[in-house]
Amino acid sequence: MKKKLVLIGNGMAGMNTIEQLLKLAPNQYEITVFGSEPHPNYNRILLSSVLAGDADIKDIVINDWDYYKENGITLHAGHTVNKIDTAAKLVKTDTGLTVPYDDVIIATGSLPFMLPLPGADKEGVIAFRDIKDCETMIEASKKYKKAVVIGGGLLGLEAARGLLNLNMEVSVVHIFKYLMERQLDETASRLLQKELESQGMNFLLEKNTDSILGKKRVTGVRFKDGTEVEADLVVMAVGIRPNIALAKESGVEINRGIVVNDYMETNIPHVYSVGECAEHRGIAYGLVAPLYEQGSELAKRLAGVESAGYQGSVVSTKLKVSGVNVFSAGQFTDEPGTRSVKVQDDFDGVYKKVVIKDGKVIGSVLFGDTSDGSRLFAMIRSGEDVTGKEKQVLLGDSAGGGAKSGVDYVASMANDEIICGCNGVSKGTIVNAINEKGCTSVNDVKYCTKASGSCGGCKPLVADLLTHVLGADGVKSVKEGICGCTTLGRDEVVEAIRKMKLTTSKEVMNVLEWKNPEGCSKCRPALNYYLGMVWPEEHEDEKESRFVNERNHGNIQKDSTYSVIPRIHGGVTTAKDLLKIANVAVKYNVETVKITGAQRIGLYGIKKEDLPSVWEELDMTSGFAYGKSLRAVKTCVGQTWCRFGTQDSMKMGIELEKRLERLYTPAKTKVAVSGCPRNCAEATIKDLGVVAIDGGWEIYIGGNGGTDVRPAELLVKVKEEDEVIEWTLAYFQYYRENANYNERTSKWVERVGFESIKKALEKQEDRLALKERFEKAASLTKDPWAEIVNNEELRKSYESIITPELSAIEN
Ligand SMILES: Cc1cc2nc3c(=O)[nH]c(=O)nc-3n(C[C@H](O)[C@H](O)[C@H](O)COP(=O)(O)OP(=O)(O)OC[C@H]3O[C@@H](n4cnc5c(N)ncnc54)[C@H](O)[C@@H]3O)c2cc1C
Ligand code: SF4
Repeated sequence: MKKKLVLIGNGMAGMNTIEQLLKLAPNQYEITVFGSEPHPNYNRILLSSVLAGDADIKDIVINDWDYYKENGITLHAGHTVNKIDTAAKLVKTDTGLTVPYDDVIIATGSLPFMLPLPGADKEGVIAFRDIKDCETMIEASKKYKKAVVIGGGLLGLEAARGLLNLNMEVSVVHIFKYLMERQLDETASRLLQKELESQGMNFLLEKNTDSILGKKRVTGVRFKDGTEVEADLVVMAVGIRPNIALAKESGVEINRGIVVNDYMETNIPHVYSVGECAEHRGIAYGLVAPLYEQGSELAKRLAGVESAGYQGSVVSTKLKVSGVNVFSAGQFTDEPGTRSVKVQDDFDGVYKKVVIKDGKVIGSVLFGDTSDGSRLFAMIRSGEDVTGKEKQVLLGDSAGGGAKSGVDYVASMANDEIICGCNGVSKGTIVNAINEKGCTSVNDVKYCTKASGSCGGCKPLVADLLTHVLGADGVKSVKEGICGCTTLGRDEVVEAIRKMKLTTSKEVMNVLEWKNPEGCSKCRPALNYYLGMVWPEEHEDEKESRFVNERNHGNIQKDSTYSVIPRIHGGVTTAKDLLKIANVAVKYNVETVKITGAQRIGLYGIKKEDLPSVWEELDMTSGFAYGKSLRAVKTCVGQTWCRFGTQDSMKMGIELEKRLERLYTPAKTKVAVSGCPRNCAEATIKDLGVVAIDGGWEIYIGGNGGTDVRPAELLVKVKEEDEVIEWTLAYFQYYRENANYNERTSKWVERVGFESIKKALEKQEDRLALKERFEKAASLTKDPWAEIVNNEELRKSYESIITPELSAIEN
């Protein structure tokens, strides 16, 4: 008969223990789980992302209801255990259930610490701990404007960022003179403060809270120095304390937390504890990575697998706030006996510090550039002797000698060491995924194991591990020649164009020794595009390298007639333009007048020789209804007419279309703008979608509504129209400069990773530089229809259009 195991606390640490146990000994226990929250097990870490609007509650579930069923686990969600009878080996709940156990795990987590201030019980004063708190904040933001977050630590800042995203005015109150003082030194902290202020956060430092003001609901906060700040919502994020009431009530030994030994055993036989409620060697941890290490040790204990037991953890921290890169690990303050290496670059806003004691790296703080974080963390954990090469630890080879590479570090890690702290994924699990499931890229590993799927801090380690297992050549970085004429990939070709100042396709083919000196239908249009993108001024468009539609500035139809689709900016037209279109349609016997899927009017069945006259009489640019460029910007009626619209989507759509039109992009692009989150313009399946929200705009990228439907991902939320333009142009230019020719944004985003694009656009200076390059290139474009209409020679060419040799089907 199976033994009975009861888990009290359906949170991250407890359920991780169960997951590990099921792997080691699937049939040993009949398992019952109690959880106070009415939800299945979810990733608490990602509540910050839910609040910031980057994830939905359903996205953060770790083990859904089916998981419990499939694994034969009885889950009592919404039941609180209020007594463990350790003599009779029974647990009892507030709902009247009594369940016997052979072994019981207490994993009750922490309780948020609420400052015992006068008025702290008022409506609108909450903590940030669970789904309910998150929902309360989201609801409050719909009715109220002013939020005060008490606590300038990790949690407080993540709450503040989320509330900003919900369009609240946010003040962060902190008792110390700088933020995140437990994770950062003063220099890093000041840089952080500056960055967050630029994002719109307001800080009240060295403020000691005296009381919460208001009658029923909070109206403000008063400080001990007599000053006050208005508030409709107060979030207390001042710390947590282990949730030990149940253990205390049941006679289990407690100190600050539930006292456990290296095997997570309490003083009472068969009663174990893991997670934030447990205290091991005097420490109660408040981050997931060490708790998962505890879980793994407890699982071994319960499964009867020998182990050395839990030895304690060094922790690292990463702030999950977009636009901010902060990393800290170990002991990072300078103290007697320690020495440190520091780098500070005020121009790029980068600060790095490594603290060394007795020849070993014991701590680090990184701000602005956290790419060395996982390598340094691995060094801290390994305790490697770096005597004589202290500087290289931070400065790399430029400081002389060779520091141990990231690949060497992952190689030296034990198989059960955790690589992804957020999701508790060990090195061994990732290695298995690489060897057995054929993962060859960081994205594959994320898909198979969840590693790097939460805060993303472990991505460099995962990449190093891939290189370690597969060798640099085995890691997928899609290095294929752009066509059969060359072995060079897109990046090498573009690099050569830039570096060697190549300005024609012929030059590229000669210099880079194309196998086929004439090129082919794959590389010729691609080279023409890359040359135009790199040298917008110098490069002369090579018409002969374009496909038929682009070359003739019209869309050839299956009967060899053409369609003419005048541009209608933002899908908004006038009666006068409609009359013009109708008159042309009548005069040229247009067979079909069709409203297209992109809110345009298409005139179908126009003879090739009539094209110039049709364009002339329409006197409207004929769109790029066929080209690898912006096709259309779809809009809804928005604020102008709709009862729900919060912003002027038509105006925004028209403006965007005017800014984006004419410039070639790697593949066709579509844009849409919706006037409110109802999203009638279907902006979330476009290459770029803009959705109005109360007081701002959301910008989505990488969507596709065609054969491979892909929802767009939220790039950023902004307040002003100018910011929408700035982000949009920067994004399009980044896409122009980095995607493969013929690669839709949806595929490109998937290939290079959404986060890398977000990061490239994060800094305003980078965005402005991209925008400038976009505008420069756009300013050099001409209206091809006007050119043809006004040039006798070009006009004549329409009288006998030569059958094109490049006639690949376009979509
Ligand atoms: C917003 C937020 C962001 C965070 N970000 C990070 C981060 O970036 N990185 C990181 O490492 N950590 C982060 N953390 C901390 C991390 O979430 C916790 O360390 C982790 O969830 C603790 O796991 P646990 O299982 O000990 O407790 P929990 O996950 O809190 O689970 C405890 C569960 O026990 C239940 N429970 C309590 N008492 C009883 C009872 N008597 N009967 C039945 N059920 C009971 C509770 O309802 C709760 O669901 C964050 C936390 C929050 C709130
Ligand atoms: S998206 Fe909003 S504003 Fe636009 S039509 Fe739909 S409901 Fe109206």
